[in-house]
Amino acid sequence: MNRDTICVQGGYTPGNGEPRQIPIVQSTTFKYNTSEDMGKLFDLEAEGYFYSRLQNPTCDAVARKIAALEGGTAAMLTSSGQAANFFALFNICQCGDHIVSSSTIYGGTFNLISVTMAKMGVEVTFVEPTCSEEELNAAFRPNTKAVFGETIANPALTVLDIEKFAKAAHSHGVPLIVDNTFPTPVNCQPIKWGADIVTHSTTKYMDGHGACIGGAIVDSGNFDWMAHADKFPGLCTPDESYHGITYAERFGKEGAFITKATAQLMRDFGCCQSPQSAFILNLGLESLHVRMARHCANALAVAQFLEKHPKVAYVDYCGLESSPYHALAQKYMPNGSCGVVSFGLAGGREAASTFMKSLRLAAIETHVADARTCCLNPASSTHRQMNDEQLKAAGVPAELVRMSCGLESSEDLIADIAQALDQV
Ligand SMILES: *Cc1c(COP(=O)(O)O)cnc(C)c1O
Repeated sequence: MNRDTICVQGGYTPGNGEPRQIPIVQSTTFKYNTSEDMGKLFDLEAEGYFYSRLQNPTCDAVARKIAALEGGTAAMLTSSGQAANFFALFNICQCGDHIVSSSTIYGGTFNLISVTMAKMGVEVTFVEPTCSEEELNAAFRPNTKAVFGETIANPALTVLDIEKFAKAAHSHGVPLIVDNTFPTPVNCQPIKWGADIVTHSTTKYMDGHGACIGGAIVDSGNFDWMAHADKFPGLCTPDESYHGITYAERFGKEGAFITKATAQLMRDFGCCQSPQSAFILNLGLESLHVRMARHCANALAVAQFLEKHPKVAYVDYCGLESSPYHALAQKYMPNGSCGVVSFGLAGGREAASTFMKSLRLAAIETHVADARTCCLNPASSTHRQMNDEQLKAAGVPAELVRMSCGLESSEDLIADIAQALDQV
């Protein structure tokens, strides 16, 4: 099936007389006739449901659709994008291990890796996404277990050279994990370029309506855990907490990663998505391919307008030919990247504040990837504890505005931006 068709019909095929829409199975538990039947489920010998913290039919149908969209072999939903990235890393990293990560990643993930996982004994080396192959290879240690990056970073909007990062990861015998939240599988399939595990904050474009927090993890099924068994004991030696199962042996390359993350991490941490949220997420997925095209067209029109405006000092958008990431974006995302544009007001912090106050259509929100256009001045909100020097170093100078272009008419959006710039 074409990706557009998978968006609409993937993951769920009703039988004769069954509901056309994915049923919301609003049940914590499932009934069995004998204890033996249930025992087989607990031993992972039979497939089926017993408790919705681990698996639920509604969530599984939506996860199957996301797996198909990314070209993966297995997927799971999580309660948030934060939980997805934590599970993806913690499934293969433990105390004493090390991660190599791109430095331009989402603030929440940066904290997760550099502060919270550090407390768990997992160390990290951050590398610039534009680093040379030599610099990248130099970041690895004998205890490195994963490489992490974002296809398009939020909010830095850098584009990851997926092939460069995959090559380095694989030459050191570890997988590349890519957070593909911003382009979505409609615009980029990182697995095709060498990523082994793909994560999502489904809160963003996949949901697309600012309705539900959620996350997803997809396994490509390509990474050979057994070929690097010494590095990944959690997958390649018996799990005493799960009847001595060796995940990589029992479920192979295609199923081991997601089965372990479900049977172990979801069991113990419980960051599951509710069937209601999964249903709403699926409504978003049904129109994802149509919406992404519009988000990208609106963002390009806005970026082109801003680039020519005398009150705008610079514009960051990889769809612009002036962007240093234009060539990479053309290679990995020829049909468009995402709807988020960053730009700096020539008049500095005060100009940014006047501009934002004067907008009528674009709302000020800590959110992106919504049907409704929204914007944020990090210096006066998410990063307001920093002084101007620190803001510059963090890549969010005081005059920076991040605008997430929604699905409105681009003419109206540009007219709104133009009148707000007139007030500056
Ligand atoms: C928002 C976001 C996250 C975190 O997702 P939540 O659903 O808010 O937990 C992770 N990665 C990226 C790239 C994001 O934009």
